[in-house]
Amino acid sequence: MRHEGAIFRPPSEAESLILQATVGCSWNHCTYCAMYREKSYRVRPLEELVAEVRLARRECGAEVTRIFVADGDALAMELGHWEPLLLACREAFPRLRRVSAYATALNVAAKSDAELRRLRELGLSLLYVGPETGDDVTFQRIAKGAGFAEHALASRRAHAAGMKVSAIFLLGVGGVDRSREHAEGSARLVTEMDPEFLSVLTLTVVPGTPTAALAARGQFELPSIERMLEELRTLVAASHPTGAIFRTNHASNYLPLEGRLPRDRDRIVATVDRALAGAVPLRPEWARGL
Ligand code: SF4
Repeated sequence: MRHEGAIFRPPSEAESLILQATVGCSWNHCTYCAMYREKSYRVRPLEELVAEVRLARRECGAEVTRIFVADGDALAMELGHWEPLLLACREAFPRLRRVSAYATALNVAAKSDAELRRLRELGLSLLYVGPETGDDVTFQRIAKGAGFAEHALASRRAHAAGMKVSAIFLLGVGGVDRSREHAEGSARLVTEMDPEFLSVLTLTVVPGTPTAALAARGQFELPSIERMLEELRTLVAASHPTGAIFRTNHASNYLPLEGRLPRDRDRIVATVDRALAGAVPLRPEWARGL
């Protein structure tokens, strides 16, 4: 497959065919994000993408069951681009079970209910949405472009269209001063979004980002590891999804955990408490990744 620049995908898409339909992120303003700063957003030409799907069929055979459509917010593509692309995927890979993509709340808001339903009919069945926080002050500070209400609505509309939602939250993104509000708001937003998958990552302040510039000026302070573990504890203990697969297996995290919420809530909270008490080893700094 032809990929331009670094490709980012969720850990759970490790086995998927990665189809880079868009380059970069149509928003590209989040203050902590360094993923697509060097890329100018564009949608790749349809003919090029369809040819790539056919090439993938020749190279990988008909066995592909999962496709992840990159880059940063591929849902931004117009329906006129998505439709033939998903049809080509379906034709090339008859065993295809899941097509997924990153999506922002803004991307979902830009699609009508009928468009979302059509995308689902054609196979787009999972959206990875990263509000990162549930605290409206933090939403504004990180320039997410949408807040609590917009993310709750995006999830509701994706669910109504028959799609699954994987929600991503980011420990530390509220800084020291909004840490408690960030954790409590995130727990409330998890309950509202009621995602099928819930992932928690840990903020790394990346050089070159607005967050790094704020940190250098003393206007942003990353909470301590203990404080971020407390955020994680609040997020798990106070959220009420009806049935979410929960993971902190991303390389950025100090404490990899997994389970189902609400079923495994007590076990997960107890593990975080043991980590806070120093009884569970944390991932060392050198082993963490973005
Ligand atoms: S929407 Fe996602 S990819 Fe785009 S700038 Fe924000 S965090 Fe980065």
